[in-house]
Amino acid sequence: HEKERVFNFAAGPATLPPNVLKKAQSELYIWGNSGMSVMEMSHRGKDFLSIIQKAESDLRELLKIPENYEVLFLQGGATSQFSAIPLNLCKPSDNVDFIVNGSWGDKAYKEAQKYCKANLIWSGKSEKYTKIPSFDEIEQNLDAKYLHICANETIHGVEYKNYPEPKGKDTVLVADMSSNFCSKPVDISKFGVIYAGAQKNVGPSGVTIVIIRKDLLGNAQEITPVMLDYKIHADNKSLYNTPPCYAIYICGLVFEDLVAQGGLEAIAKKNLEKASILYDAIDESGGFYRCPVEKSVRSLMNVPFTLEKSELEGGFIKQAVSQGMVSLKGHRSVGGVRASIYNAMPLAGVEKLVAFMKEFKAKHAL
Ligand code: PLP
Repeated sequence: HEKERVFNFAAGPATLPPNVLKKAQSELYIWGNSGMSVMEMSHRGKDFLSIIQKAESDLRELLKIPENYEVLFLQGGATSQFSAIPLNLCKPSDNVDFIVNGSWGDKAYKEAQKYCKANLIWSGKSEKYTKIPSFDEIEQNLDAKYLHICANETIHGVEYKNYPEPKGKDTVLVADMSSNFCSKPVDISKFGVIYAGAQKNVGPSGVTIVIIRKDLLGNAQEITPVMLDYKIHADNKSLYNTPPCYAIYICGLVFEDLVAQGGLEAIAKKNLEKASILYDAIDESGGFYRCPVEKSVRSLMNVPFTLEKSELEGGFIKQAVSQGMVSLKGHRSVGGVRASIYNAMPLAGVEKLVAFMKEFKAKHAL
């Protein structure tokens, strides 16, 4: 008897599309004509090469990645990129700029301080990370090697809808897209580097994707560990050492699925619809539920909210579990509720959550 799957609102690792899981299940024991599982294959054999090459080409198609960008499948999570970026893009004496809209951007900023002169040119901390500034009010360092943003702050639910232009003539824009990667089309050519841990929208944890403009390769600081050197990975097509083969294979299945769904324009439309019904339910609750994030920058991926009667939050989360909706607890640093509704969360999951919210409110509003 088959157990029923729950609706998983976790921020990461997050839910994967059922058809992808079923395909992986059908291929788990034997992949193609290889006579073995993807987990057992040589990463240098023709079967795995076909898997990684297809994953890359589907990702290139989805994001329309220009030829002058390299796509790398790395390990160590997005957190490793917090150090890899400064190590690869600048010398210890170089300036770099950070706009910090939440905890992840703050972590990236603190890590960069170890390897270069990292400047915090705007922080939303005093406003509890609920905003993104208007870009002209920020003063950038014209000699900065890069300007770093976190495109979607997973914990605070703040998402860039457009991007700042770096002002320095050699400054490139760098973005942590871990939690909104492949959720909508992106003009890659605006960025020097985009990086993302896979475990929200595109696969299991264990693989981190880096998209880097080719002319930025080859300037790593001498102390850069080989595993963090983008040029080494680019020259070796992400096969310098044993890559996270199985995680890359699953990402490939997800990319294939996203292409089949009509690509990122189609995905973005679905994501907007899901987020809209959830934010509407919050905003139309007469204050029973409240989202602190400024409307224009609310994340389509992570929807944080609180209950006016905060003592009801525990019960809300527990009752949701009993109805098959799990991992709705807000991050331990901010509390409240957070519904992460990545690509693989179906509309039916969000509709069920909204119906539950209305029912819960009706019971407790008096
Ligand atoms: N950046 C963002 C925006 C995240 O949401 C996360 C993890 O949740 C990270 C970085 C850290 O990623 P990892 O756990 O892959 O190191």
